[in-house]
Amino acid sequence: MVTVQQPIVKFWGTRGSLPVSGAAHVKYGGNTSCVEIGLSRESGQFVIIDAGSGLHALGNSLEESKGQDYHICLSHFHLDHLIGIPFFAPLFQAGCAVHFHTIIEDAPDGFEPILDKLMATPFFPIQSDVFQAEVHFHSHASTSQIDLGEIKLTTCPIPHPGGAHAYRVSTGDMDVVYATDTEHEPGTLNTKLVDFSQAADLMLYDCTYDDNEFMDKKGFGHSTWQEALRLAQAAQVKNLAIYHHDPSRSDVQLDEIEKKAQLIFENSFVAADNQLFVLDSRN
Ligand SMILES: [Zn+2]
Ligand SMILES: [Zn+2]
Repeated sequence: MVTVQQPIVKFWGTRGSLPVSGAAHVKYGGNTSCVEIGLSRESGQFVIIDAGSGLHALGNSLEESKGQDYHICLSHFHLDHLIGIPFFAPLFQAGCAVHFHTIIEDAPDGFEPILDKLMATPFFPIQSDVFQAEVHFHSHASTSQIDLGEIKLTTCPIPHPGGAHAYRVSTGDMDVVYATDTEHEPGTLNTKLVDFSQAADLMLYDCTYDDNEFMDKKGFGHSTWQEALRLAQAAQVKNLAIYHHDPSRSDVQLDEIEKKAQLIFENSFVAADNQLFVLDSRN
């Protein structure tokens, strides 16, 4: 009998900008950007998008790393998307390999010098030469397909200070668009992103702000949950994950946002750390 593997998305970090903790952040969690998308742990058929503080728990959840290859695709290099790397357990295990994938436009010299900077004195006590895993760096052109066997990714540049890329991950029957961090132009939909996200099963989008606070945050590089709804509807995505929450957003505020968003688009939800999204076969 052939076992049909259900594609999944596991949210390991849904916060933006800064990890947070405390009584106001229990339900949605406080780890920064990190998601796992794929088929199964056993088959090794999954990819990690972004390496925020959520990567720490993801790494600790991997029971046996020996002989495994892990693929981490980075949207860009702001600290909230990288800070989990020095805490990713497989990097300290001989016999496994960690592959970093980045886009040439965002990192013309590749990711290795950026990783070295992240862990350089005086910012970090140990340097990347302590890693025992094999570390590989892959630089891709913005328009190329990244082929990881059962998982295939395409990318799309999105406006953000210093550059960033969205990923569209195809695995099994599921297509997931990961689009953070990005700032929109009020009144103008990002048509490139709409085309890129067309009919995806799930879209994760930068929902740092509310439309009402956006004008005070212009130039910070982020977008709003209302813009996420407009994009999701224009692209006819099936489900929308409100993602990259502002560090000061409380659980109560995020509940409110979810209620308002679902009045406009029923299949939207505020993503929470440790949440598992399984594509509903009815969708
Ligand atoms: Zn960010
Ligand atoms: Zn950023």
